[in-house]
Amino acid sequence: MDHTIRQTTSAASSTAFVDVLVPVALDQTYSYRVPRGMALAPGDVVAVPLGPREVLAVVWADNATPDPRLHNRLKDVGEKLDVPPLKRELRALVDWVAGYTLSPRGMVLRMCLKMGEQLGPERTRIGVRLVGEPPKRLTPARRRLIEVLSDRLLHNKSEAAKEAGVSTSVVDGLVDEGTLTIEPMPRPPPPPPPDPSHAQPEFSRQQRAAVDAMRALAANGSFHVALLDGVTGSGKTEVYFEAVAETVRRGKQSLILMPEIALTGQFLDRFTRRFGVRPIEWHSELTQRTRARNFAAITGGEAPVVVGARSALFLPYADLGLIVIDEEHDQAYKQEDGTHYHARDMAVVRAHIAKIPIVLASATPSVETEVNARKGRYQRVLLPSRFGGQHMPHIQAIDLKRVPPPRGRFISPELAEQVGFAIERREQALLFLNRRGYAPLTLCRACGHRFACTICDAWLVDHRFRQRLVCHHCGFSMARPPVCPNCAAQESLVAVGPGVERLQEEAAHLFPQARSMVLSSDLITSIETMRAELNEIAAGRVDIIIGTQLVAKGHHFPRLNLVGVVDADLGLNNGDPRAAERTWQLLNQVVGRAGRDQGRGVGFLQTHQPEHPVIKALVACDREAFYASEIEARERTLYPPFGRLASLIISAGDRPTAEGFARRLASSAPRDEHVQVLGPAEAPLAVIKGRYRFRLLLKSARGFDLSAYLRDWLAAGPKTKGNLKLEVDVDPQSFL
Ligand code: ADP
Ligand code: ZN
Repeated sequence: MDHTIRQTTSAASSTAFVDVLVPVALDQTYSYRVPRGMALAPGDVVAVPLGPREVLAVVWADNATPDPRLHNRLKDVGEKLDVPPLKRELRALVDWVAGYTLSPRGMVLRMCLKMGEQLGPERTRIGVRLVGEPPKRLTPARRRLIEVLSDRLLHNKSEAAKEAGVSTSVVDGLVDEGTLTIEPMPRPPPPPPPDPSHAQPEFSRQQRAAVDAMRALAANGSFHVALLDGVTGSGKTEVYFEAVAETVRRGKQSLILMPEIALTGQFLDRFTRRFGVRPIEWHSELTQRTRARNFAAITGGEAPVVVGARSALFLPYADLGLIVIDEEHDQAYKQEDGTHYHARDMAVVRAHIAKIPIVLASATPSVETEVNARKGRYQRVLLPSRFGGQHMPHIQAIDLKRVPPPRGRFISPELAEQVGFAIERREQALLFLNRRGYAPLTLCRACGHRFACTICDAWLVDHRFRQRLVCHHCGFSMARPPVCPNCAAQESLVAVGPGVERLQEEAAHLFPQARSMVLSSDLITSIETMRAELNEIAAGRVDIIIGTQLVAKGHHFPRLNLVGVVDADLGLNNGDPRAAERTWQLLNQVVGRAGRDQGRGVGFLQTHQPEHPVIKALVACDREAFYASEIEARERTLYPPFGRLASLIISAGDRPTAEGFARRLASSAPRDEHVQVLGPAEAPLAVIKGRYRFRLLLKSARGFDLSAYLRDWLAAGPKTKGNLKLEVDVDPQSFL
């Protein structure tokens, strides 16, 4: 229980002190004096002087007892802000996440506030109203303004000026004359809450047990983890909506996390159909004003359901009662800069601390989650088949060694034939290739020169729509030169390998009548256009969809029955310990877009290795074969979840500095029989933005506290100086 502070009666004085945490990259708290007449409790949001500035901070501990010699030097808390305090559960989460990820506590706190300086109450908007007589001197501008306000109602000041075509100084002039008054605009009323009974669907017999489980867990309301495990199209969304509905009925808030919030247009429509109103959104694309309004609604408890990207996990909900993680296996939940955290794992931690239920939904659970379900730590809620009697897509491998595409092409004759049939049947086809741009490499036919980024260890990717060669790691780009910069040969540059833009060219050549559309993250100009494009596809106004992993997730395209994976091997051989798992998940997801409405879905996997266990498991739709072999391999090699990993990434502006520090760091590692320190090794992506990178990998037994080990090590070990940088990544997902 939070409690209001008592004035301490220490020997020195009757002054009270608090320790506050500042949302900057610092781990420690700072003591401040509480001015007389101000009552503060842990969680209160305050403004404090820090150096020359006044900054936001959160009271972390009351009754602080700073060194008495400091008392006179401590500054006063500036003011207490009129916003809801951070609850104990959220403060505990900040401490926990910081301890686990080795991120400064202030950085984690920053994610809870997210509003920076604008945390204060929403700025009141200014209204203007006609109250008096027009002045004697009436300019045309004043006349127009009075005309606009002639209804004597309250108008927004800047909008009224705009409507009258005058500047706001004309408004001010008439206020001085007593013709108009200025009043604050009332806040717009909050939208009506979601109605849990608005349009509850009829559930199939297969779905009913899962629905019961969802309602029970929400009604119970205590900590509980359920894996909602259902094939693509089985109705997982409709089913977990019942947990949300129950939570709304109980008057508590629900948070639904999504991996790609930019793509949730269809989701929002479905939510609206089910609950009658749109949920509150939280992601990086919101405008400042919407952000402020949504933040206020979330903290004020006026947002019963929030749909958000991973950053929504850290918000100060007034009364969170349920968390749902949609597509829990998705890699996008891992934040790879700043605080390296996995939103799914931290969501389970938050649910545990807040003592609330959490639902993890997936058709292809992560191996970690699958093992937790097998061991009974998570409840498995099964949806074994598609809704409405639709079959799962039939999957077939196309052996590229036997029937390769024509030279310089990437669509095999067999796949091309199938796409042709689909178009004849007036159905859609999806060609999937997880590669943005036109071609991953450009080289000179005459001298062999390859276009590489000057500051990264990477080839430049040819982007024809933008007419640039682009580095995917730092964003550097250049126009494609007319002659080779190395040998000056003319017209000697060739594109090597395919990207989605090149596939579109090939599709246009093969099917000149077909309408095609490329969906790729670099082509999105705004969420609105993206949502509009997805609606075009869903409405059937596109024949061939060509896309990167952006199209793999969650979409429901009723006319899509054929999915062709152009390069099924792409993610298999990249040295990532999760390569098999990722490929299994991604290809299941993308093929799962087929045959969701009517007709039979089919998926074709173009591959050079049809005998690879992952390809075989996909073709046989043998989920058990995949998990059994993958779990066995992880257990044998002590990889997660049977062991633990952490990465240390060292970078510097030159190679010897980075390597030298990495070596010194490695040799300073405390000896512990439970930990293996591997490396340093040059990172697979050896240079990014001119920074040379080395990696250390730590491997430990499952029960070992790797974070504590790291903390001791880094506290005692060599310190980074100059432009050396050390990043800590506990439970790494990326090994690049
Ligand atoms: P998943 O998330 O498992 O891929 P969805 O929740 O997207 O599945 O459901 C697939 C399709 O079936 C959607 O169009 C959804 O509206 C529909 N659907 C699922 N269950 C029902 C139901 N009980 N009543 C009506 N439509 C349903
Ligand atoms: Zn670059």
